[in-house]
Amino acid sequence: MRILISNDDGVYSPGIAALAQVAAKFGEVRVVAPDVEMSSASHSITAWRPLLYKPTPLKDLSAYRVNGTPADCVALGMYHWEKVDVVLSGINLGTNLGNGIWHSGTLAAAKQAVLFGARGIAFSTPSTDAEPDFSKLSPWIEKVLQLLLPEPRLTLVNVNLPTTPKGIRWTRQSVRHYDGKVVPSKDPLGRMHFWFTVIPLEETEEDTDRWAVEKGYVSLTPLRLDLTNDAELEELRRRHPLT
Ligand code: MN
Repeated sequence: MRILISNDDGVYSPGIAALAQVAAKFGEVRVVAPDVEMSSASHSITAWRPLLYKPTPLKDLSAYRVNGTPADCVALGMYHWEKVDVVLSGINLGTNLGNGIWHSGTLAAAKQAVLFGARGIAFSTPSTDAEPDFSKLSPWIEKVLQLLLPEPRLTLVNVNLPTTPKGIRWTRQSVRHYDGKVVPSKDPLGRMHFWFTVIPLEETEEDTDRWAVEKGYVSLTPLRLDLTNDAELEELRRRHPLT
């Protein structure tokens, strides 16, 4: 099995090495990741300048860095290495729960894999002051891969690991409204600048990704790329038949 590893924290993030080490138990591994941090890049691609694909030193791993987004990395990775079966993205330093999925570069790498005909699994864990204890997370990642890899129907899965997992749960995406808070400030020259941050407005619903991680469980959310609102489509076709 060919396993391409990417992320949005950059090729030198400790999370990517931890993920690659677990993945190596399941197949042939290659790392292709952004040369700098690309968190919140979502599924953007670089269409206005050329991309570079350079070998990079990373422990004893086969690794390449790209001056682009996570989606670019997966595109170049799958171009240079044919027949990739699955792209694993992460381990992101910061959860990707609920609406965070829309902004996530970690998820984008996994989505890009699906667009190219492979499978994609994204891994994230809370960002804390201290570096996550990957030795505690690795056995859980191994368990998750043992569960997910033999299921080819699962093309896209979002995995979030709490700091100290106590079990695993199947969950759904927690879609909540959030307060997109803009915080103004001034730079040293007195010019206005702004920080954008999001604050959830609603309580966590049971059986959602956020709920599971808050309760200490590894959250596994099967996702799909088709955003069509099927119920609404059916209703619209019935109420407003168009010819
Ligand atoms: Mn990130």
